[in-house]
Amino acid sequence: MRSAAYTSRVLGARLLSPEVRELTLEHPGGDFSYRAGQWISLHLPVGEKPPLVRAYTLASASREALHLCLDRYPDGLGSEYLFPLPVGERLQFDGPLGRFTMPESGLPLLWIARYTGIVPFRAMLQERRKSDERAPVTLLYAADREEDLIYLDEFQEGALDDPTLRIETSLGSGPESLTPRLPELLAQQSGAVPMVCGAGSFVRAIRDWFVERGYERRAIRCESYD
Ligand SMILES: Cc1cc2nc3c(=O)[nH]c(=O)nc-3n(C[C@H](O)[C@H](O)[C@H](O)COP(=O)(O)OP(=O)(O)OC[C@H]3O[C@@H](n4cnc5c(N)ncnc54)[C@H](O)[C@@H]3O)c2cc1C
Repeated sequence: MRSAAYTSRVLGARLLSPEVRELTLEHPGGDFSYRAGQWISLHLPVGEKPPLVRAYTLASASREALHLCLDRYPDGLGSEYLFPLPVGERLQFDGPLGRFTMPESGLPLLWIARYTGIVPFRAMLQERRKSDERAPVTLLYAADREEDLIYLDEFQEGALDDPTLRIETSLGSGPESLTPRLPELLAQQSGAVPMVCGAGSFVRAIRDWFVERGYERRAIRCESYD
C-alpha cells in the first residue's frame, strides 16, 4: 500500500449518536498544522486496490490531538472500516487540505450545516473562541432527528457567554426544512457571508437558493462531502 505522509495512533473514541463516532488521534508531530475547516485524506487498508482514500474533516482546533467525526454509511467501504476501529490502531493520512476556512474579512458569517456538515464549524467554533476579535456568527443547523444534531450542546454552551453567536436548529429531511428561515436571518445580518457544509445534494440546493436571489456563486463558500 502506498504510504501516506503521516501516521497516527487512535487514542480514543466516543459515540456522538447511534450513527456517528468521534475518533481522537495522536498529533502526528513534525510539521503538521492545520486551520479549522480543513480535512485530511485517510489511506485505508481496504477495498480491491488498497489504499482506499477518503476525506475526513478535522473536527477540532486542538493542537495536541486530531479529532475525526465519522458517519456510518450503510455498506460504505471506508466508514464501515473506521466506525469500529479499536483504540491503538494506526491510521495513515495526507494533508491538511481544503480552503473551507474562516474568512479574515471580519464580516458576519452565516454557517449552514446539515448533519455531519457541522464538523468544520465545530472546529471553527473552537478556533473562534481562542480569538478576541470575533465576527458575528449565526449557525443554522439541520438534521433529520434531534439525536442527529451532533455537537449542538457545545454550540449552545458557547452561545451562553457570547452574544455574537446565535444558533437556530431545524428538523427535516431536505434543504426546504431550513430555506424558509434564510430571508429573516439575512435581513438581521446584512452582508453575512454564507458558508455551507453537508452532503452534495444539500450544498447544491442551498447554493442555488442564494444564486437565485442574486448572490455570486463564488461568494457562497461551500464544502461538499461528495
Ligand atoms: C472534503 C470532504 C470532507 C469530508 N468530511 C467528512 C467527515 O468529516 N465525516 C464523514 O463522515 N464523512 C466525510 N466525508 C465523506 C467521506 O469522505 C466518505 O465519502 C464517506 O465516509 C463515505 O465513504 P465510504 O467509503 O464509507 O462509502 P463508499 O464505499 O464510498 O459508499 C458511499 C455510499 O454509496 C453507496 N454505494 C457505493 N457504491 C455504490 C454503488 N455502486 N451503487 C449504489 N450505491 C453505492 C454505499 O453503500 C454507501 O452508502 C467528507 C468528504 C469530503 C469530500
